[in-house]
Amino acid sequence: MSNHAASYLLNEVLEILEVYGVYKHLGRPTSQELVREIVAASSDYDCNPGEILDAIGGRLGLCCSCLRSADLLRTGRCEDCRRK
Ligand SMILES: [Zn+2]
Repeated sequence: MSNHAASYLLNEVLEILEVYGVYKHLGRPTSQELVREIVAASSDYDCNPGEILDAIGGRLGLCCSCLRSADLLRTGRCEDCRRK
């Protein structure tokens, strides 16, 4: 059972950071690392990476399954994760 409320909250926080231009300021690689760290920290709270990265993961080029950088995502996942 995932902590959906916390996952949706984190998704909203990530979108607020986008609205305020934080990702543009940091650049893509650093933004991806920032979001990876947030998702990693969320595992202590039983959050769901797919819910956290919903839509924003695609815009940042982050796979919601393996958290690797990927330019081509479908349903939030990279090609390797879609094959599994
Ligand atoms: Zn992946």
